[in-house]
Amino acid sequence: MLKLIKFCRLHKRQLSTSPAATQSFRKWYQQLWTTERTNLPPYSHFTQIGDPVLRDRAAEVPVECVDSKEIHAIVDRLVHVLRKYDCVGIAAPQIGVSLRIIAMEFKRSIKNELPQAMYKARQMSELPLTVFINPSLSVTNYTKHKHPEGCMSVRGFSAEVERYEGVKISGLDKQGASFHLELNGWNARIAQHEMDHLDGKLYTDQMDRSTFTCTCWETVNTKSGRVEIPFYK
Ligand SMILES: [Zn+2]
Repeated sequence: MLKLIKFCRLHKRQLSTSPAATQSFRKWYQQLWTTERTNLPPYSHFTQIGDPVLRDRAAEVPVECVDSKEIHAIVDRLVHVLRKYDCVGIAAPQIGVSLRIIAMEFKRSIKNELPQAMYKARQMSELPLTVFINPSLSVTNYTKHKHPEGCMSVRGFSAEVERYEGVKISGLDKQGASFHLELNGWNARIAQHEMDHLDGKLYTDQMDRSTFTCTCWETVNTKSGRVEIPFYK
């Protein structure tokens, strides 16, 4: 910060002889401190670890607001981003909205994309698109399983995380009606991961740290480091 201020002062002095340049400098300088933001949530990208929105406890959606145009727009964006990035779960803080809303979907087609042994070992199964507003979770099977887990808000990394085998998740749908789901295996894992997001927790808080892995470490070697992790799609 100190260096930046010195830099600014230096440039202001140098530019002060030219009114046009001074103006453009002022604009540039003001942009550094402006509170005005040009890209507002709900975002079409995933917020990344370090963003305070991922560390806040997300707020309940007031019941009278659930079936509203504003909440429906957030839900629609959540589902749009979930599908755009081919994910299996997403929580509203991940698009910059600190509200207790999650969406999950485990498509049938994933079965053909993964080795069958992995699909079975991780107890994966289809889960149709499900949106929960103000969800709560209880554990129905305390057996723990440790599997590799990733998060679009910790882009480019994964680690093994222990999760309970079975959970029950209850909440409201888009119209404000209560419903619940009993989930097992991988889908229970997705629910636990997304619920953590609503409480400002990330998998890195409880991962087996010795398994923390850059998902493209081998490509980094084969391409002499010329690899980029995209934060957009
Ligand atoms: Zn996540």
